[in-house]
Amino acid sequence: MSKSKSKSKNKSWKRHQLESSSLPSNLWRVASIWNRANPQLRDIVPYEPGKPIEETARELGTEPEAIIKLASNENPLGPSPKAVHAMRAALENAHLYPDGSGFYLCTAIAPKLDLARENVILGNGSNELIEFLGHAFLDPERQDEVIASQYAFIVYKLIATSFGARIVEVPSTDYQQDLEAMLEGITPKTQLIFIPNPNNPTGTLISQRAIDSFVSRVPEEVMLVFDEAYFEFLDDLPDTLRFVREGRNVIVLRTFSKIHGLAGLRIGYAVARAEIIEVLHKTRQPFNVNSIAQVGALAALEDDAHLRKTKRVVDKGRAYLQEQFAKMQMPFVPAAANFVMVNVGDGCAVFEELLRLKIIVRPLKGYGLPEWIRISVGTMDENKKLIAAFRELKRRQ
Ligand SMILES: *Cc1c(COP(=O)(O)O)cnc(C)c1O
Repeated sequence: MSKSKSKSKNKSWKRHQLESSSLPSNLWRVASIWNRANPQLRDIVPYEPGKPIEETARELGTEPEAIIKLASNENPLGPSPKAVHAMRAALENAHLYPDGSGFYLCTAIAPKLDLARENVILGNGSNELIEFLGHAFLDPERQDEVIASQYAFIVYKLIATSFGARIVEVPSTDYQQDLEAMLEGITPKTQLIFIPNPNNPTGTLISQRAIDSFVSRVPEEVMLVFDEAYFEFLDDLPDTLRFVREGRNVIVLRTFSKIHGLAGLRIGYAVARAEIIEVLHKTRQPFNVNSIAQVGALAALEDDAHLRKTKRVVDKGRAYLQEQFAKMQMPFVPAAANFVMVNVGDGCAVFEELLRLKIIVRPLKGYGLPEWIRISVGTMDENKKLIAAFRELKRRQ
């Protein structure tokens, strides 16, 4: 290296130091990191999960057992007992790396969907699969566009933004996803369209007729994603796998987090034509889904009894909650899955008040729904305690 070069480097370093010391330390730190971090990340507000039980118990100075969590659409009955049994045994092999391709689980899932193993890929929760779609199909250089409805599951927006794509948010009417308006939002730049069905947090379901009509009019090259996290709770099951079988650019997401009761394990799967799955495999880490989760999911998949029992409890609980909300004249959006969105006037205030009564629900201000909260259906005992808490709040008014 020449002398002059190292000298000038030295000089610029001095100037750098001078400038940094003349700025308030806080401001300097902000300015410096955004010279280096990807600029699109500036706009991202990190995902706000349901408040954890332990954290709430610490804040209230009470035992975790005293807290009721109806905030994250988890299974109120807990994990599938068959899964727990299988996972206990699997712990003995925790020293071994997992099978990265998830051979056994994909082999078990595929025939249930009338598809082949090559049509299935596992993710560390279906959220990770949404990220794979970003890696696979979004390019910051191209100014790609991603379409999703207003009030749709917020992770689509987070992923689109983090991959430098523009999110096209289509206005919702009556808390439904307006598929006609979404069609109109398609441009040559549209790469991905996300359709959660039913949607979280609104709980609304799209009919098969609307889906069929929509898919027939979406340009073939656009990647269409149906997020079916709550599929197993539905009475009328939408059929989107038929588009996969037809070879369309359709990706269906499912998860073990909801009806199977394995949210803590982080495991879900995507279903698509083999060529798409091959691309998605290139985007994942070698061991993205841990071995215990794979074994647990495999056992849960065969636990029909737990699934049916959960659906029964949720069906009854949802009917009870909606009936009580109607009685108390609290507007709610009729729900298809294991949660109900209800209008309480001031969502954040009611969230805080319920917290003090040891019940965690989900405020929806972050979704642009400040008057609403989302309540997961619990056990009947939990549901009754929630309704009693609402009556208590009303009495205090
Ligand atoms: C809960 C949920 C998921 C599931 O996420 P995991 O990462 O599988 O736990 C996916 N999509 C929607 C719309 C959800 O509500």
